[in-house]
Amino acid sequence: MTKASAQLVVDKAKVSFSGFVAVSDLTLRVAQGELRCLIGPNGAGKTTALDLICGKTRLAAGEVYFQDKPIHRLSEHAIARTGIGRKFQVPSVFRDLSVRDNLQIGRSASPGVLSNLFRFRQSRDKADIERLAELVGLEDELGTPAAHLSHGQTQWLEIALILAQNPLLILMDEPTAGMTQQETKKTADLFCRLRGKHTLIVVEHDMGFVRDIAQTISVMHQGKLLAEGRISEIESNQAVRDAYLGS
Ligand code: ADP
Repeated sequence: MTKASAQLVVDKAKVSFSGFVAVSDLTLRVAQGELRCLIGPNGAGKTTALDLICGKTRLAAGEVYFQDKPIHRLSEHAIARTGIGRKFQVPSVFRDLSVRDNLQIGRSASPGVLSNLFRFRQSRDKADIERLAELVGLEDELGTPAAHLSHGQTQWLEIALILAQNPLLILMDEPTAGMTQQETKKTADLFCRLRGKHTLIVVEHDMGFVRDIAQTISVMHQGKLLAEGRISEIESNQAVRDAYLGS
């Protein structure tokens, strides 16, 4: 993929924390509609890679381009407004509100701000909320308080809240952590449906899940990109087997 044809370009990015280099010389090119998995051992720099894209962490060197525009100097909110959504490991839903009310607020909030209650009152797009709930498999739970959802359902609600903003690119950090096998399978089906409509970058440890969803896989190790390719290429790469998958 050329730099010009990529929707997201991370170019020679470096992040350091008080002198400790967490990410260095990281270059990623992700095409519009692609589902990219980011894998690697703990501490490899995967979460930091998501953080530097969404502006949570600043770059010490390098650049990030989204839709051909530099975004690495923008604030986190300004980056969210360019169409980049982020799902963190711990879901941030309104536990006392029903699934429907969560989605209503999610639809009417500005990207990154879930407190725009003025527009919430004006929001009347019931069909869109029901479509979103159906997309993530929560159509039978619209009246259920979020606090009563299972762990997997809570994760899907949070994904729906991100989708309510209609982001072009979604960054997901270990979306299947703590899920049952059945929930993981449903999440894989959901991600395959999202692929093509949204660009997704997914940090994940579950290689079965990665196999089910990924188009291209980027492997990080010690803050650097170790390998990139299709699942068969990654699984047969000796450096990746040594660093992460086990020989
Ligand atoms: P991964 O997601 O691959 O497990 P991280 O991106 O979370 O790795 O972390 C990469 C490295 O950077 C780790 O050594 C981690 O301890 C360090 N690190 C991450 N965030 C911070 C921080 N805010 N301050 C200091 N060190 C950090």
